[in-house]
Amino acid sequence: MAQLKKLARFRDVMKEVNAKGAALYKNPVGTEDLVILSPYAINYIHSYAEDSPFFLGLARGKIMGSECKACHYRYATPRSHCMNCGAETEWFTLPNEGRVHSWTTCYYGGEEFLKETPFNLALVEFDGVDTLLLARLKGAKEADMFIGMKVKAVFRRPPRYLVSDVHFVPSEKPRKN
Ligand SMILES: [Zn+2]
Repeated sequence: MAQLKKLARFRDVMKEVNAKGAALYKNPVGTEDLVILSPYAINYIHSYAEDSPFFLGLARGKIMGSECKACHYRYATPRSHCMNCGAETEWFTLPNEGRVHSWTTCYYGGEEFLKETPFNLALVEFDGVDTLLLARLKGAKEADMFIGMKVKAVFRRPPRYLVSDVHFVPSEKPRKN
């Protein structure tokens, strides 16, 4: 059996365990603790509940927003109740074309997206809609992008029922800034 490394700092123990699968931790209380790598994963059964029409909409090639039944404020990011007056909202279909309201290029991201960096995130605005939708903007380099750029929705096929089922691409030629 290979000799296990004995390490006094726990950060070194973690590094060794990630590389070799096991190490001994010289615990300040005077013990030598065996530390091993133990991967785990779970399947999470997640209900979208009242958000379901948004994800079913993406699967049908439609972006669903919500409109206040009382004051008719229109949300590109759907919500069940109006943030202005508190009344219930109802679903409506957003246009599949909009404009870049603002955007950022991400050079770092969560574990799932790290391998895709750098990528662009845009806040998309739509005619006749009062709030914005955050989505990935593909097919445009940072240097080619500008505020007000026309963009159109592209839907993942087959859908995965995730918010990433929709992204946007430019629908007009890049303009040099
Ligand atoms: Zn309202």
